[in-house]
Amino acid sequence: MKVAQVLEKVSLVPINGVSTGFCERLAPCLEERFFQKFAVEKPLTLSATQANSVRHQFFLNTVFNRMISAYPRHDGLLLGILAGDLYKTSHAFIFGDASESDRVAVVSTFRLRNEFHNEPPDDTLLFNRTLKECVHALGHASGLKHCYDARCAMYLSHSVYDTDAKRTYFCDACDKRMRASR
Ligand SMILES: [Zn+2]
Ligand SMILES: [Zn+2]
Repeated sequence: MKVAQVLEKVSLVPINGVSTGFCERLAPCLEERFFQKFAVEKPLTLSATQANSVRHQFFLNTVFNRMISAYPRHDGLLLGILAGDLYKTSHAFIFGDASESDRVAVVSTFRLRNEFHNEPPDDTLLFNRTLKECVHALGHASGLKHCYDARCAMYLSHSVYDTDAKRTYFCDACDKRMRASR
């Protein structure tokens, strides 16, 4: 019989200009979906020299390492919300990702903003897109893989339009996997 685990806390970290208020609005929406406690940490600033000087993007593992060293005594999972652009090896850009073993995840709002696509700013849309990509990254942090259901939060977004088409929740199959991982 599986012993019931105490669910870990998630620390939300605003990075490089993402507002604390934005993260405070995300927290209850994430708590509702993960049944975990989400707390907003003090903001973190990554200097421009920590970005790739040619690509002007932050490398995923650099962000993870900076987060882990900036919050050495945190308990549970770290979820960064980064205003800057993000990439990882063999990807032109990513909306976010997680390291299951290091208990750290990050989502970039850079390409989720309408302004990036030459459209008028839309805070509600930005919030919903960020929420979906946070659910996605937290799914990876719990070991979930990508899902072929285009409406599921674990569907891999190739563009912001994929993000708009998916929901802020997992499909039944992913939800079952998530519960089984606990
Ligand atoms: Zn993914
Ligand atoms: Zn799914």
